[in-house]
Amino acid sequence: MRLLLVEDHVPLADELLAGLNRQGYAVDWLADGRDAVHQGSTEPYDLIILDLGLPGLPGLDVLAQWRASGLATPVLILTARGSWAERIEGLKAGADDYLTKPFHPEELYLRIQALLRRSHGQVNQPTLQAAGLHLDEGRQCVVRDGNDIQLTAAEFRLLRYFMLHPEQILSKSHLAEHLYDGETERDSNVLEVHVNHLRRKLGKSVIETRRGQGYLFGGQAR
Ligand code: CA
Repeated sequence: MRLLLVEDHVPLADELLAGLNRQGYAVDWLADGRDAVHQGSTEPYDLIILDLGLPGLPGLDVLAQWRASGLATPVLILTARGSWAERIEGLKAGADDYLTKPFHPEELYLRIQALLRRSHGQVNQPTLQAAGLHLDEGRQCVVRDGNDIQLTAAEFRLLRYFMLHPEQILSKSHLAEHLYDGETERDSNVLEVHVNHLRRKLGKSVIETRRGQGYLFGGQAR
């Protein structure tokens, strides 16, 4: 999953970038509100973390412009402690969730996981589930019939994307756009290798190849 982090406080942004990378997210970082308006509506983000106090343009205006232009991406806002008015204005402007500074990074990770599950129709489940698999996002492994199957970091990122998009044809270029940040070179051969590793671990039928179209996860495995 690819996230946009908009935060002008550099030490916090650094900490969050490192933590979110360890959680298996590809993250682009911006510090300026005007840049965020543009990049947030042109790049295919799966979720956006938005600080409200920003140079260039206040976060509330950034969010209002995104929503006015029809951007439906889930947005989690970061608000100042004790500012209930900010939280209310943020929710009115179209935020999906908020966190009050200071917060523990673990709380942010759990809220992101919940928001992503919810925005992909997995409303009533405490963990990500698809095709008979449970993804343990804390331990970055997958569980089937009570047994752990270990994953590399790259396999975990790919499988999480597949499990949030079951029974959908996903082209290699689409997957690359959502698995790598804007700075990373995208190599579809590497994707193929990771798909083959997942097939070896989970069974060949879990990920089908649709010639000329891409991959289909969980089409037969229910
Ligand atoms: Ca700020």
